[in-house]
Amino acid sequence: MQEIFFFSYGTTIAAGVTLWIVEGLHPYFSRQKRRALHAKLNLSMAGLNLLILLPSGILMAFMLEWSRNGWPGIGMLALPPVAEAITIVLLIDLWMYLWHRLNHETAFLWRFHSVHHSDETLDVTTSWRFHFLEILFSELLRLPLFMLMGARIEHLLLYSLLMTPVIEFHHSNISIPPALERLARLIIPSPMMHRLHHSRLRSEHDTNYGSMLSLWDRLFGSFLIKDNLDDLRLGLDHESDSDKQQLFALLQKPFRP
Ligand SMILES: [Zn+2]
Ligand SMILES: [Zn+2]
Repeated sequence: MQEIFFFSYGTTIAAGVTLWIVEGLHPYFSRQKRRALHAKLNLSMAGLNLLILLPSGILMAFMLEWSRNGWPGIGMLALPPVAEAITIVLLIDLWMYLWHRLNHETAFLWRFHSVHHSDETLDVTTSWRFHFLEILFSELLRLPLFMLMGARIEHLLLYSLLMTPVIEFHHSNISIPPALERLARLIIPSPMMHRLHHSRLRSEHDTNYGSMLSLWDRLFGSFLIKDNLDDLRLGLDHESDSDKQQLFALLQKPFRP
């Protein structure tokens, strides 16, 4: 299990660094400036999130192990191990879709999730920019849910291994050929899909909630695509000021009237 843990974190860092280099060489939006400063802010938020994710990961591993015999969940279906892992990975991704959608449709949760959306220069580092309380709420909800599901920590690590590079990829400011983009969005939420999810227009940012698979957006009617994003404005209205794009201002953002 430790191998999957380190492999999962290693893949996240390797994919993140590779995408950061490639999006610098072949950017989709060429107007990005001060990339290092932008990355520093988003990485500071990611650092805070690690303070929650590391202990919650240990608690999750302990609780899933503890509940394994008493709470069979998906184990009741007596599936072969591979089929069980695929089913649980799909269920986790479905939960991620629903949770993300809930963050947009609930005024209270949007206060925290809007910190992610207030980024005006979308790139791979935006995939790590979340308010630490959004992370905490997410972790608190998924713990009992995954216990009921009968998931094992190995399933969660497998999901994170598959999902994290996809999330980094669809946030990246990488320019890819249209044919490849069309192919990618058959399976995963593509960069063009997620750019629309970061639009200032509510009609556009309340779409494309998927994390690892684009299937859920197609299934639940929230799929949106445009082949030309020349008029797209990223971020949120009234959040552009440089004093609002500082670590402490972003941490205070959910508590502003
Ligand atoms: Zn969102
Ligand atoms: Zn995003």
